[in-house]
Amino acid sequence: MIIKASPESISRAANHIRDGRLVAFPTETVYGLGANALDPKAVAGIFAMKQRPSFDPLIVHICRLDQLWELVTSRDERIIRLARHFWPGPLTLVLPKSQLVPDIVTSGLPDVAIRMPANDTALQLIEAAGVPLAAPSANRFGRLSPTRAQHVEKQLPDLEIILDGGSCSIGLESSVVRLEPDGFRILRHGAVTSPMLTEIIPPSKLTTSLTLSDASPGLMLSHYSPETKLYILGQHPIPNDTSKAAYIGLTPSEIKGYHSVRFLSENGNLEEAAGNLFFFLHELEDKWLDFIVVEAVPETGLGIAIMDRLRKAAYRFHHSTNE
Ligand code: AMP
Ligand code: MG
Repeated sequence: MIIKASPESISRAANHIRDGRLVAFPTETVYGLGANALDPKAVAGIFAMKQRPSFDPLIVHICRLDQLWELVTSRDERIIRLARHFWPGPLTLVLPKSQLVPDIVTSGLPDVAIRMPANDTALQLIEAAGVPLAAPSANRFGRLSPTRAQHVEKQLPDLEIILDGGSCSIGLESSVVRLEPDGFRILRHGAVTSPMLTEIIPPSKLTTSLTLSDASPGLMLSHYSPETKLYILGQHPIPNDTSKAAYIGLTPSEIKGYHSVRFLSENGNLEEAAGNLFFFLHELEDKWLDFIVVEAVPETGLGIAIMDRLRKAAYRFHHSTNE
């Protein structure tokens, strides 16, 4: 059920978390499906509700820097610099886990992913619950991430509490960066881009390329996908009859022959585009059109993350082995 975020509803949701139950809550990236990260049974409920495979680890959300030191064993000073600079914010750090973190949270891996979200409702909920929250995106596994409370309700209608904090300011999942012996590696692109990271850590200490074997578990080729078939313009052949199709362009231009047309940004701003992408995909998948065509965006800055999500969203429609 959707409940507007308020001091009363946050306190009720915090009690729910302490009872081992699940709560959906807003963050600046996407809505999360949270449970007490220190309670393996509660965390198991997240995997069950999302139908998420157990090999896909969860991000642990904290509200104060001192909580970090209970969850990890490394005190590398570069971690402190990154955390001070980017938290609260859309950067997830993958670090060696302490014994306090149950194996189910990390899918048995020795590292745990941690982030402090830049959203007051999220921070107040974590504070009131008194425990870190394990929270993946509040969608069914493999489907579109929710950027509105209504998107959560559409996919997870049985949830007792969906705290409504309006639309997510970023609307794209966090950047994920892992600490490695020789520096850091970007495991997932997001709003904290490599040029932003290299303001804090030297470029020679940041690896941005990913081979499939280093890829973050859970980062499959197919992910973040709408119900409706998706085509990327210039990358997939588009069917001739577009009369029952939708078109998503980057900036306004004259597009003819489509049932619905949307533009990600008035002036090509990639932040605005990222914020609108999942919103439009949710809206258009509900119209049960034949297919959706999306323009590719320039792969610079946030455009790298946008194209990563688009390719994963389109993948299952163009590769029969993954259907
Ligand atoms: P989500 O919260 O659904 O956006 O996804 C969380 C993602 O964070 C996972 O799919 C992984 O890609 C990444 N992640 C979480 N924990 C770890 C970890 N211990 N090691 C590497 N990647 C992780
Ligand atoms: Mg997700």
